[in-house]
This record gives sequence, C-alpha cells and structure tokens, in this order.
Amino acid sequence: MIRRLTTLTLSLGILLTTALQAQQPVHLCGTKDVEAVKQQMLQNRQEMRDFVFPRNAVTYVPVRFILVAKSDGSGRPNERLALRALCNLNEQYADQDIQFYLKEFYYYNSTTVYTNPTGFSGSTAIKNLMDYSAINVFITNEADDAAAYYQPPAGPGGNDWIVATSAYVDDVRVLAHEVGHFFSLPHPFHGWESSGGWDPNIHGNPVGIYAPDGQTKNELVNGSNCENAGDGICDTPADYMFPSGNCTYNLNAKDPNGQLLQPDKENVMNYHFGCSSYHFSDDQKQEIQNSLFSSNRNYVRPNYTPNLTEINQSPTVISPSQNEEIATYNHVQLEWSEVPGADYYLLEISNATIGTRTYIVEDNSLLLTDLEPNKGYIWKVMAFNEYHTCANYSTQKIFKTGGEIFSATVEEVGFESWDVFPNPVSGSQSFFVSTRTSKPVEMDVFVSTLTGQTVYSKTGIQVSTGVTDVEIAPGELAAGLYFVSIKAEDAIDTRRLVVIE
Ligand SMILES: [Zn+2]
Repeated sequence: MIRRLTTLTLSLGILLTTALQAQQPVHLCGTKDVEAVKQQMLQNRQEMRDFVFPRNAVTYVPVRFILVAKSDGSGRPNERLALRALCNLNEQYADQDIQFYLKEFYYYNSTTVYTNPTGFSGSTAIKNLMDYSAINVFITNEADDAAAYYQPPAGPGGNDWIVATSAYVDDVRVLAHEVGHFFSLPHPFHGWESSGGWDPNIHGNPVGIYAPDGQTKNELVNGSNCENAGDGICDTPADYMFPSGNCTYNLNAKDPNGQLLQPDKENVMNYHFGCSSYHFSDDQKQEIQNSLFSSNRNYVRPNYTPNLTEINQSPTVISPSQNEEIATYNHVQLEWSEVPGADYYLLEISNATIGTRTYIVEDNSLLLTDLEPNKGYIWKVMAFNEYHTCANYSTQKIFKTGGEIFSATVEEVGFESWDVFPNPVSGSQSFFVSTRTSKPVEMDVFVSTLTGQTVYSKTGIQVSTGVTDVEIAPGELAAGLYFVSIKAEDAIDTRRLVVIE
C-alpha cells in the first residue's frame, strides 16, 4: 500500500509539473462554488459565537461510501479503497475532537455517474442517492478532471455531497481536504481557484488588491485584512495558489504591500501533494467545530459511539492451505483466524476469469459455491470494524478447484435424523417418514424401484422444527425392495423400504 501511494504521488507530481509548465489550469480539487463554502463559514462563525462547545468529547461522524460501478456492474472501486480512505481521514483529524466511522457501503451502477458525476444527469442521480444520515462520499472513476470535490450548500437541503475518484480517494490528504470543505473550510488561496496558480506574468508581482476571482481581496502577509480577505481565516498565512506535487514552494510571490509570502504548504486545505505531514491550523479546527455543531450539521451528529476496539492484526489464513487442491468447485469453504475487535472481514478473491471479487462477512469463514472447476484462485482477508479500518490484509494464498460437484447432505439443510416406519410394511398399507429437524424445512418424498423408476412422489411437504411424521400412501405396492428418498434444497438422502404381501 505504501508503494502504491508513493507511485500515485510521483505520477501526480509529473502531471502537475507538466500542467504548470504548459500553464494549464490544474484540477486537483474540483469544488466549484468555493465562495458558498466561505460564506457558510462566515455565517457559522456569527451563529456559533456564543455556543458552548462540549469539552474533551469526541464527536463520531458517520460516513457512507457509495461505490459506483459502470451500468454493467464493472469497474466498481474496491471496499478496501474506502477503508483506507477512512483510515487516512481519521489520521488527519486525530488531533481534533472529531472522528469518523463507516455507516455503510452502498453499491450503485451507472456509467453516467461513474464517468461524469458533475453533469446534469450525473448530479441528478447523486441527488437521488443522498441519505442525510451520514457524510455521503461517492467514489467514481472520473470527476471532471478533478481528484475530488465537495458540492455545497451545506445541510440536508438536497446537496452536500463529496465525490472522490478511485485514483485519489485513499491519498493521505484528499478526503480529509474535501471533508474540510464539507465543514465549510475554504482553500487558503481562496479567490485563486480558477487562476491555474500564481504566475507573475499574468498576476503581477506584487499582486494587486483583488484575487483573480475579482471579488476576494488578496490576504496580506502582515495579517491586517485576514478576517475577510483570502480564506477569511487569520492563522493561515497569505497564499495565492502555488500547487506542487512534492511539497515545495520556492517562488518569490509578494503581497500588495510588497512583502514576500510564506505559504503553509502542509495545510490540509492547500494544494501540495507529497508532504511528510499535514495539519489544520487552530482557527481552521475552530471553524470545523463551528460547522459540526451548527444546525445544518445535525444530521451527521447521531450521538452514537462506534466500536472503538483497536484492530492491529491481520487474520491468519487457515483453509484452504497454500496450493491446496480442492476436489470440488461449487463448495469451497474459506476459513481464517478470528481477530480481536473485528466486526467484519473484507475478503478478496481473484483470478483471470472472475477478476477480483470482494465479500464482507461477519464470521471468520465464507462458503463459495460459484467458482469454476480446475482453476487457480488467489485470496486474502482483512479485519475491520466501523471505526478501525487501517489493518492490513493477510498474506495471500493460492488454491485450486477440482472438477467434482458437491451435493449438500441432508444434515446441512437442517435434518438431525430421519427414518421410515413401519419397515417392513405391508403392500397395501401406508407408512410414515419420520423426521427430526433443527429448523422448518420444505421437503419432497419419492418412492422408487431398484431400477430407478419413481412409483410415488409427494412434493412441497412443510416439516416443522422437531419431530414430524409424514404419512405416505403410495397405494398398492408389489412386494419387494424399494428406495424412499427425501429431497430438501440440494440435498438428497435415501433409505431402503421392504414391502411384504
Ligand atoms: Zn479543495
């Protein structure tokens, strides 16, 4: 995973450098109406001025991940991505009295939302999928060339969602940044979003009074206009958008007074990838609290504490063992060790034919009945609960299916025992099939000759829990040996019946 993140950061660095050299706008965070975010923050600041905040109490905020696939169900982001994203989110907010937990995974298929969530039909579909009981995070393949974005306005009035692309959602900072917007934080370079980044040839040095949006005043280095200029937050230094892929700022941008800027590269709300650590400023943290306890955020404060048991282990794979060849293919039982604190396991199985499939299970075993014969499979499993989603996968194991078909036993479908009585029976009498079951079962009864000819059948017999005697009246049977079979689900079992004259 670390290697993967490094690769992502590197490739983004290249992308950024190219974009900057070509003076193209960079699309990192695609939040469109950033002014609405800032105005919401200023409004919260007024409303919450006299609010008494809870002290030393963590508020747990539910997050709902909508995993968007193409219309045919392909291309869906793996749950693992969302679990990593949630893990990173909690790490970036770990020094605040706010943490996040998994409310649910929701699976949605739409090529439109997958490729174009910002278009009219894409955003209409998203609107219809909103569930105002959690922060809704849609993971898509594309987002109008952005890594992710937040859609204001705040509150359960119809918007208030986050879209993140599967390539970026588990970046260490991307989701934390969008959740920052959700809690009404602007960018430190507010007003410069559409500028493509500061360029002395375009924006001057020193810069003018107004940011490129034409309405936001450029924040001064001396902080004298910080209440309203720029992001409106005083402890984030003046910034005119200097994105980088490797956490660097080596330019000489000057504010309208001619003072050199010293932007905060490691601020979560800034545009620097590749920093070794990120933070929110103290004032930003206060604005997050203002938003969290404001009325339009009631819906993400359910007053619920998730299972906080830490999960710091990976399961050990028990069965099948490495390179095991299983005789059957339609009945493969996967088993692993239980992990303390785990409420769920994410199991991933893949091969060239099925691609990658994932399962979320509450038990430490899973029965697969739809694998293909004579194929190799790779699988691994990780433990999580709604709050701890940072654990690693187990070592991956390989097994191979065989060509045999597995049929269930009647014990497996609920029969503890069964028999036929009286036996022998007179050819003109009825007899009974007596069952003892652990649950209600629907069964069929067949009577057949030694050569396999069915001479009697009774189907759809409802058997209740415990002992049941079912009367079987096949009519006159010639003396001889017969088979009596019961069938329930896929299971069949047979007893011999002797018929006498
Ligand atoms: Zn942003």
